Amino acid sequence: MSAIEEQLARVDPSQRVLLLSHCLRPSQTCPGKYSKQGLECPPDCNEDCSNGRLRRLAVKLGYKGVCIAPGGRLALKFVKENSPQGIVAIACHKELEEGIQGVKELAAEAAPNPAIVVVPLTKDGCVDTEVNEELALEMVALGCTLPSGEGRA
Ligand code: SF4
Repeated sequence: MSAIEEQLARVDPSQRVLLLSHCLRPSQTCPGKYSKQGLECPPDCNEDCSNGRLRRLAVKLGYKGVCIAPGGRLALKFVKENSPQGIVAIACHKELEEGIQGVKELAAEAAPNPAIVVVPLTKDGCVDTEVNEELALEMVALGCTLPSGEGRA
């Protein structure tokens, strides 16, 4: 485990947020709707979707919030509003350069500095992208235990 992953593992899930890229959704079948808070997933959505599985895991673990952002600016606003101590971000290279960099700069001003673990996409291109989902799930769950009787996703 890297030093930043160890730092994240020590943060209670109630003080963590998960930032997801909207481009991970299946673009042809996703029933989600965009709002000022990002892409909103209907609770009964059962599409084969990395965003859905990652979001459900974070909710089960008790994360402070999950934002499926259409861009770095919204992710930045979400972080400002929530002041998390831990951030897991699943992001494409473009977002890494823009929004996530902004999140890092913002986080650097906070005390103590939040732990930020970034999982890059394995296939980007803005639509129907992909991530190493096992790795992303592992990062979301670092240091956490699920409530008894709960499956992971
Ligand atoms: S879980 Fe995935 S497919 Fe379903 S609404 Fe959310 S982003 Fe769209």
